[in-house]
Amino acid sequence: MLQDGPVTLSTPIAHDADLPPEADLVVIGGGVAGVSTAIYAAKAGARVVLVEKGRIAGEQSSRNWGWIRQQGRDPDELPLVMEAVRNWHDLQSETNEDLGLRQTGTLYFAEDDATLERYRNWAGIAAGHGLDSRVIDRAELSRMLPEARAGWIGALWTPSDCRAEPWLAVPALARLAARLGVTIRENCAARALDIEGGRVTGVVTEAGRVRAPSVVLAGGAWSSTLLRRHRVALPQLSVRGTVAQTEPLPEIFAGQGVDNHFAFRRRVDGGYSLAPSFDHDFFIGPDAVRHSRAFFPEFRRDMLSTNLRPASPAGYPDAWRRTTCWGEDEASPFERLRVLDPTPNRRFVARMARHFAEAFPSLGPVRMRKAWAGMIDSLPDMIPVIDNVPDLPGLTLLTGLSGHGFGIGPGVGRAAADLALGRDPGTDLTPFRFARFRDGSRRAAFHL
Ligand SMILES: Cc1cc2nc3c(=O)[nH]c(=O)nc-3n(C[C@H](O)[C@H](O)[C@H](O)COP(=O)(O)OP(=O)(O)OC[C@H]3O[C@@H](n4cnc5c(N)ncnc54)[C@H](O)[C@@H]3O)c2cc1C
Repeated sequence: MLQDGPVTLSTPIAHDADLPPEADLVVIGGGVAGVSTAIYAAKAGARVVLVEKGRIAGEQSSRNWGWIRQQGRDPDELPLVMEAVRNWHDLQSETNEDLGLRQTGTLYFAEDDATLERYRNWAGIAAGHGLDSRVIDRAELSRMLPEARAGWIGALWTPSDCRAEPWLAVPALARLAARLGVTIRENCAARALDIEGGRVTGVVTEAGRVRAPSVVLAGGAWSSTLLRRHRVALPQLSVRGTVAQTEPLPEIFAGQGVDNHFAFRRRVDGGYSLAPSFDHDFFIGPDAVRHSRAFFPEFRRDMLSTNLRPASPAGYPDAWRRTTCWGEDEASPFERLRVLDPTPNRRFVARMARHFAEAFPSLGPVRMRKAWAGMIDSLPDMIPVIDNVPDLPGLTLLTGLSGHGFGIGPGVGRAAADLALGRDPGTDLTPFRFARFRDGSRRAAFHL
């Protein structure tokens, strides 16, 4: 049966392979980052094992908006996200399945001249990378969206941006990985890294040990939990993002767009995915306090759109009463919460339906089919870590995709696979180094 909503604990297990005693590479985490890493490592000839504590794409990777967006990205990420777009097209044909991949473009709507000016500057940066972003005026925008009744005076437009259906795409990529020879096991947490003589020599999972000279940690919101067990600190926090899906409606635009109030994306099932542009919930826990200085600039910027909640729910990575150390023979926090499946914020759902209906009145009443949420993991500078971890030789970290990992996944996964296998990643990964959080070389986050 075709997946018809975000992947949850009730989604049947699709991958239950026996774990081999050894491999060339073990990947921890079956989101878009881990699955992409596994694909490119297998293509390079490595024997790869991937373990996922819950379900493939059970967390952020089936819960996101489905935007494959180069537009507005941090300039340091542009080469990787542009590669990711090319990789998505290749993967679409290699899977021989419909990932919902469509090249339909992204629009950022502008309500004032200052915003348009910022967009013009960014289009200049994009042009330097050979990306097709450009600013369009009110007249061109009205030709593209004749039904729109919002007060937009123009937009930033990137025609080569794409969209895909997250809960179809990432499971399909996992099936491709399995066909390429990757051993995948769901419902199988990595409890700890196996370490001998200060070097990572494999992974201790709840189903046994797998020896490997290289391990990639792509654990999304849980990466810092596993690192902490091995006394490595990473300033990682998560926020809850709410998304909803409308009933099928006429097509007013084939791509995706966002203004100051709401974001929308056309879906292959004839509806739209809607989300608030900025509003999110933030649960306070021990890491929120510990990393408050590092995240302060982002918090200050987002203050008005952050809905603060005093207590992170039990079992969440940043819960107040969490376990930070456990034995290899004990159930780990990863097994206690197999799939992080937060409840959506209903207030946000009602508000975005209203904004969408007001912007496109010709659609008539906007009825929601379902709503869901996901915990978006972030680092203070809003770009990932893609690096070998200096304190744990043998471990490559791919995490902190900071709200845009679905689109860039096949790019960063390719780079992480090369790094882990000791191959030339072919692109400058300096901006994504792990040490930036320790040596003070971290720069401020880029915002368009
Ligand atoms: C609401 C929302 C909207 C978003 N919209 C977009 C968008 O439009 N475009 C975009 O590009 N990005 C978007 N994102 C961000 C994007 O979804 C994420 O950046 C991306 O999916 C992260 O992928 P990942 O593989 O790093 O993490 P995840 O998808 O979270 O996967 C990590 C996996 O690791 C597993 N795991 C963790 N620890 C262990 C362990 N010890 N053992 C075994 N398994 C483990 C987890 O169970 C999980 O399945 C959005 C995210 C959300 C939540």
